[in-house]
Amino acid sequence: MSENRDGKLSTYRGKRHFDRTREPRGEIVGAGGKPVFVVQIHDASSMHFDFRLEVDGVLKSWSVPKGPSADVHDKRLAMPTEDHPMEYRTFEGVIAGGEYGAGTVIVWDEGTYEPLAGSTDDKGRTFAEALEHGHATFRLDGAKLHGAYALTRFRGGEGSGERESWLLVKKKEARTHGRPAPDPQRARSALSGRTLRQVAEEEPETAVEDLPGDSG
Ligand code: MN
Repeated sequence: MSENRDGKLSTYRGKRHFDRTREPRGEIVGAGGKPVFVVQIHDASSMHFDFRLEVDGVLKSWSVPKGPSADVHDKRLAMPTEDHPMEYRTFEGVIAGGEYGAGTVIVWDEGTYEPLAGSTDDKGRTFAEALEHGHATFRLDGAKLHGAYALTRFRGGEGSGERESWLLVKKKEARTHGRPAPDPQRARSALSGRTLRQVAEEEPETAVEDLPGDSG
């Protein structure tokens, strides 16, 4: 069981040098309570948002170039990336030059989510199975994002050999509140209130003390 779960992070770990990045190596944790989500802004070779949902002890992850929108007419491209460890949801800092994903990261939004019917419907699917089948809906309850969203695979998957592409779309609801995705350079962390630039100025690049999850 834990071996299987650990296997989920092998791609994540394989891309990183944990003696050179402050990103967490990752331990698998059973969260209990509502599953969490996080949206990070990542000023890498190209600016993007990382959208992550807790599923079975890891963070399922998509890179969303334009970020999630509260406008139901916006279809936001979401490219799957490797599962990340749960501790990554609080990672804010600078990934050193030359390392995978080099650049500054802030936590733009975080909170909990609730799987919605339509993904875990009469077919009796779990949320994880719905994602495997390429469509899941969920309600976000974050500091900034609220309401129902859908993730839908439109290319690749199911053994096609093609790289998967998904869309992240806000669902129409009677009462919609929320805001469009921010200008990433001006956006502030939900954890620390800092901008990308402030994190880049304040965080050391290579210190390896107190990696989250390594010492508990
Ligand atoms: Mn990223």
